[in-house]
Amino acid sequence: MIPCPLCRGAADQQLGQMALSRIGEVEIRRCAKCSVMFSHPLPSPEALRQCYASEYLDAKGKPAGYFNYVRDIGPARLRDGRELGATLSFVPGRLLEIGCCTGHFIKGVADASNWEVHGLEISEEAAEYGRTRLGVEIAVGNIEGVDLADSHYDIICVNDVLQHLVAPQAALAKLYLALKPGGKIQLVMPDGSFDVLPFVREAKAGGTLVSPHWHLFFFPQAAIRRTLAETGFRVMSAERSMALSALVDLGLFKPARGEFDRKSRGLLAHPRRRSRVMRALLDLLERVLPSLGLGHESGSGPANSRSAEL
Ligand SMILES: [Zn+2]
Repeated sequence: MIPCPLCRGAADQQLGQMALSRIGEVEIRRCAKCSVMFSHPLPSPEALRQCYASEYLDAKGKPAGYFNYVRDIGPARLRDGRELGATLSFVPGRLLEIGCCTGHFIKGVADASNWEVHGLEISEEAAEYGRTRLGVEIAVGNIEGVDLADSHYDIICVNDVLQHLVAPQAALAKLYLALKPGGKIQLVMPDGSFDVLPFVREAKAGGTLVSPHWHLFFFPQAAIRRTLAETGFRVMSAERSMALSALVDLGLFKPARGEFDRKSRGLLAHPRRRSRVMRALLDLLERVLPSLGLGHESGSGPANSRSAEL
């Protein structure tokens, strides 16, 4: 029996396989008990650290990594940070972002508020960029290896990071302790039941898709809720955005430029701009698309994000 890394249930169902760039081919297993899907075997933290080397920031046509983070994603992250910062500006506090990359998001928060901001980032080059070019404090390391002070932060942001970790539940437990009582964690992550589809489809056709961004876990909504509850969190709000790039690929949706730049974030930053009817329609499409076997291209990043503010 292959034990589930989260709940220790039996994960004997093999959905297919995928190729993790620079690591090799792995199976995709599904846990019968908690429904999470995951890479089997999981790579070592050291192997992952090597993956997130400088090419992660500028792949220059190489098979893995972001195309150009600073140019293509940085400005949107800065705007996201400023949007959050603007809501925080009345009370001082302390915010930590796990996997902050170049620190554009925390820079935005600091710009728009009087909050103290900190970042943790696995890529030395990304952290160096943030420190020298944006003037934000970023520690280099991964969540598994870092010591965090107890009851220290008011908000911890985990944006598109949890699915990359070798031990996501242990990471959440660590963040729980680092939060002040009453503190909040903000998670943004793809809906795993959708994110996994391109790999499963390709496997059914006899092929193996390369996972360029090392998604090691695929959490369906029920699985992340269960994991959070077991870690001690109470879900305060959850918002689903939609499968943007699937619609773009189908020609059904032509996003505004700003939204297109945020392809990897889905429409998360814009939900309030849509009418109730439009949101209901998008939500319906999100439910229908996976059952039709339509997903985003594996190279385009997670398109189907969900935010859980806890
Ligand atoms: Zn499980």
